[in-house]
Amino acid sequence: MKKFSVLLATNSVKAYQYLAPDDLNLKKGMIVKVPFRSRELFGVVWDESDEELEESKLKKIIEHYPQFIFSERKIKFIKFLSNYNYSNLGRALKLFIPQTYLLEKKKQNFKYEFNSKNYEKVKKTASRNKTQEVFIGNKSLSKKEIVHEAGVSQSVIRDLIKKKCLVPIPFAQELNININNISKVNLNNYQKKAKNKIIKSIKDNIYNCFLIDGVTGSGKTEVYFEAVEESLRDGKQSLILLPEISLTTDLFKRIEKRFGIKPVMWHSNLSKGKRKEIWQDIFNGKSKLVIGARSSLFLPFKNLGLIIVDEEHDITYKQQEGIIYHARDMAISLGFQEMATVVLVSATPSLETIYNINEGKYFRLNLPKRVGKAKLPSIKFIDMRDEEYKSQEWISESLKLEIKKSLSNGEQALIFLNRRGYAPLTLCKKCGSRIECPKCDSYLVEHKYNYRLICHQCGFSIKSVKDCKSCNSKNSLIAYGPGIERVTEEIISYFPDSRVETLSSDNSLKSHQILSDMKNGLVDILVGTQIISKGHHFPFLTCVGVIDADLGMANGDLRAAERTYQLLHQVAGRAGREDRKGRAFLQTYFPNHPVIQSLIKGSRDEFIDTELSIREKNKLPPYGKLASIIISDKDEAKIISFCRALKKKIPLSKDVVVLGPAPASITKVRGRLRYRFLIKANKDINIQKFLHLWVDNLKKPSSTRMSIDIDPYYFL
Ligand code: ADP
Ligand code: ZN
Ligand code: ZN
Repeated sequence: MKKFSVLLATNSVKAYQYLAPDDLNLKKGMIVKVPFRSRELFGVVWDESDEELEESKLKKIIEHYPQFIFSERKIKFIKFLSNYNYSNLGRALKLFIPQTYLLEKKKQNFKYEFNSKNYEKVKKTASRNKTQEVFIGNKSLSKKEIVHEAGVSQSVIRDLIKKKCLVPIPFAQELNININNISKVNLNNYQKKAKNKIIKSIKDNIYNCFLIDGVTGSGKTEVYFEAVEESLRDGKQSLILLPEISLTTDLFKRIEKRFGIKPVMWHSNLSKGKRKEIWQDIFNGKSKLVIGARSSLFLPFKNLGLIIVDEEHDITYKQQEGIIYHARDMAISLGFQEMATVVLVSATPSLETIYNINEGKYFRLNLPKRVGKAKLPSIKFIDMRDEEYKSQEWISESLKLEIKKSLSNGEQALIFLNRRGYAPLTLCKKCGSRIECPKCDSYLVEHKYNYRLICHQCGFSIKSVKDCKSCNSKNSLIAYGPGIERVTEEIISYFPDSRVETLSSDNSLKSHQILSDMKNGLVDILVGTQIISKGHHFPFLTCVGVIDADLGMANGDLRAAERTYQLLHQVAGRAGREDRKGRAFLQTYFPNHPVIQSLIKGSRDEFIDTELSIREKNKLPPYGKLASIIISDKDEAKIISFCRALKKKIPLSKDVVVLGPAPASITKVRGRLRYRFLIKANKDINIQKFLHLWVDNLKKPSSTRMSIDIDPYYFL
């Protein structure tokens, strides 16, 4: 027996020692199953641990999986991930081995060949002969195919297998990429230039990070397809990361058409069997092209050559639960570890990415023009202070006229409001009381599609009500403010003869149908939330109306302006994507706000420069570092005393400022109260080290939760 150490895929800080027979050829990175307390757990053979225990105290390994070995590079990435995001190593490893059934043996789908020599020795029957006949011409067939083609029963086949007349061959579901049968567009000169740079990096097998910076509809996707093609030719794996995987049918179809293969989609709705098959095929390098959201970063790629991060600025890349991380940033570090090329893609890049370009860390590839005849839409504001409209109505006369104009040309309109439901607030017109969530400090939002009032923080819901419980008035509750259901109602009242559809995450099951009808010109007006802002190509859409361009600017978050700019730019970019000119209109009460001004002037780079200089002045990211610690508990007294203990232990440093503790702006969520520390540091400070010094050895009441967010994006 010999000793070796194992990092368990569970909440543990260090690797433990185990015993294995001498002849078991265990290698670093190999997945193993070991006993731990009363359980059996999976883990990975790790570096030697410093822990030296007597052999008699050690337990023996249960199983080892020589077909599943994480490479040295992968291990480095796991270490980086855990270190950067302030998580322990075992939890980070758990991301890579999320479920244990992934390691189980795959059900083999065998195909069979017919062995005529052996057949000479057995008694011939009519059905046996029929079976032999379907194999004429050296075919290999699955059981199902034999049943179908020969018209014989399963028992005949079983019998022939027993007599070795039918011999199984493992049947590989290889992706047969016929690279020479690819159908593609002729790239324009900007696209060619961008493509050549990326392809060179892939050929050189080195890490590089590019940004394809191009306006909406400039052919960015076609450029990264070229990169994918190159990586496939090289026999390497490619990963396309998307912010959301639910609405990717378009991309899927495009890839299928262009490459003649179905890409592998990694998402939460896969069956267990499918998940296992995909995971193992990625581990052994068989699957070459994977599309997925955040969690696909942790798939066990064997030979990764290319990572695309589409819509790199999108905030859904920031994972908020479990280990908190930013998928774009982790993708870049994965690319670095794996010596793969990383391609960020956006029409409205994040300030972080622009900063890194300015620093010479990433390379920018410009696509300044829309493809073909398509022109960028014109963007105008509608000053709501000048508009006449009734209370509890949200569509201005000017916007109405513009919608009418498009409809009368046989074109479409898109109305955008980033707020689900019917009304964000229900209040009593007699006593003024508002309906709140009992578990959070937020209001319940009325949803008419299911007649419920729902908390958008925790999902708590009740049936819609009419009578006020506070003052016992009958029928006194009214809806206050707009959600997209209400705006849809208003639109229908103005355009009763048009087909109007609504799209938000509330009815995303119908989204494929609605989007495809919209694409084909069957819908006249589409009303939607941010779900419709990205990626979609609607050829007949010429008028985009933003109901409340000021929404989202007011929440005091450091990225509010940046995010509003990106969102509105994306929404406007849906218009006029073919030869019809697009027009976008922003309803606003603050037409002079820099965000609105930059949008209508099309001065994106100026906007970015101004934002960057504000951040630089205040030493905010990307010029400084931030981290936050959220402490939560049902019992406020416990939080306060724990925060007090924390505050006493803050390490002295002239380069780090700790703000707080203060109640978080949404103080109560799911019945738990939340307090927050904000840590602000200079760029060159190792903020993780500071946190280790500070909180590692602190005693915490078991009911109190503490979560640490490096580079926080949500300040609620
Ligand atoms: P983006 O990703 O920048 O929004 P896409 O790559 O999706 O742009 O291109 C928009 C549309 O134009 C797509 O239908 C695409 O197939 C087409 N397209 C892109 N590049 C070319 C080109 N060079 N020639 C013809 N059509 C192109
Ligand atoms: Zn009341
Ligand atoms: Zn709630």
